[in-house]
Amino acid sequence: MSKYQSINPYTNEEFADYDNSTPQQIDEAINLAHALYKKWRHESPESRAAILAKVADGLRANEKELAKMMTLEMGKRIAESREEVEICASICDYYAQNGPKLLEKQPLKTSLGTAYYLKQATGVIIACEPWNFPVYQVIRVFAPNFVVGNPVLLKHAHNVPGCAALTAKIVKQAGAPEGSLLNLFPSYDQLADIIADPRIQGVALTGSERGGTSVAQAAGKNLKKSTMELGGNDAFIVLDDADPEVLKKALSDARTYNDGQVCTSSKRIIVVQSRYEEVLHELKNIFENLKAGDPLDEDVTLPPMNSQRAKDKLTGQVKEAVAAGAKVFYQYPEIDSAGAFFRPTILTGISEKNPLFDQEMFGPVAEVFKVADEDEAIALANNSSYGLGSSVIGKDIKHAEEVAAQIETGMTVINGRWITSGDLPFGGVKKSGYGRELSELGLMAFVNEHLVIDVTPK
Ligand code: NAP
Repeated sequence: MSKYQSINPYTNEEFADYDNSTPQQIDEAINLAHALYKKWRHESPESRAAILAKVADGLRANEKELAKMMTLEMGKRIAESREEVEICASICDYYAQNGPKLLEKQPLKTSLGTAYYLKQATGVIIACEPWNFPVYQVIRVFAPNFVVGNPVLLKHAHNVPGCAALTAKIVKQAGAPEGSLLNLFPSYDQLADIIADPRIQGVALTGSERGGTSVAQAAGKNLKKSTMELGGNDAFIVLDDADPEVLKKALSDARTYNDGQVCTSSKRIIVVQSRYEEVLHELKNIFENLKAGDPLDEDVTLPPMNSQRAKDKLTGQVKEAVAAGAKVFYQYPEIDSAGAFFRPTILTGISEKNPLFDQEMFGPVAEVFKVADEDEAIALANNSSYGLGSSVIGKDIKHAEEVAAQIETGMTVINGRWITSGDLPFGGVKKSGYGRELSELGLMAFVNEHLVIDVTPK
């Protein structure tokens, strides 16, 4: 992608575009960030934590502008955009309050001397981020690394350049030193050069398998540490004893939040046969009651997808699934609009042989599977190349936990749909990637655990 463009998916009209960064701009950015890293090595995390608290304030103070930009660039419902800003502020709060403590040196027990390890910064990190949570994805990498002392260069998705620029501006206005978060508009080739630069010490990517493979390859070739937060085909397992009200609530936006464009949204609803009809009925009810329209309108619950390209891709996937034997249980009526609207769809009868069986459908499509019992549910959940999130809905919590433990996945929510918070780790296994963001684990992603041992003869 060589051009960064802001296109409102509700109208499919472009309202801004940005050229790629020049080689000089990229070089200046790396110089600035690297110089800041060197300076930060002599400073404690406490001073940065205090600035991060101001970034949280800045995000909240600019909520309206930031939320509107998200909605205009990628079609998120305005209420969800505001919610995203608040989540970002709370992540900054979390690291501002906990970062310095978590970064204290760790004593080690050994018979060889007095030992501990320091948790030190490693250098400049490049973050490659997707459009689906345009601010949250950036803050997930920026906030922990800022406290650690790793400056961040940002390569955001081509369709949210306005969000990228605005987030970097808010961080700067909050008092973060120049170089803390620098937004660039690089081409893929320029990105590869940035990764190869010896001053870059880490690469964090959130995105698809396609982007992840390419960027992880560049990181590996240059022996750069990387974290990969990739796609998912999450199982939402409904057990025999699921509480009907809890089930209803968990399903309510499991497949419609962010118009279904959530890495951890419940793409495969796996239901034991005794609850199958109930779940289909409930999902249909949810989809039928959506109100399509302008995502800036507070009453709208069905926004367009993030782009025409995404809509075309999902349309093709559904067609392919149906051609291979899947059944359309429900499809939302035609939407008369120039926007990138996708009609929410419920698919059943997706067999293992269906080419879509092991593909992520990134939008408002619910794939519902009927299984004989929970063993079959677990086997089906694990019959996937992905392993990001999952849900288990069941009244007997101990038992639901036992089921959760058997799923090959990075995260499981019991009796709810996906969630995220600064104090909880986020990440997956298999083709959903490696490494964790958020929580203490995310803070340590690009830390040098520097061993110091005193073996002075006593
Ligand atoms: P994507 O195409 O992989 O893009 C992600 C980022 O990587 C963008 O900045 C993109 O830039 C860049 N990129 C893509 N291909 C590249 C290449 N060959 N070389 C260099 N950079 C490249 O992902 P997406 O389709 O925008 O995002 C949706 C995906 O992200 C879904 O699969 C979703 O499940 C996943 N996701 C995962 C998480 C998680 O935490 N695990 C969270 C959110 C989303 P351009 O935009 O310029 O192409």
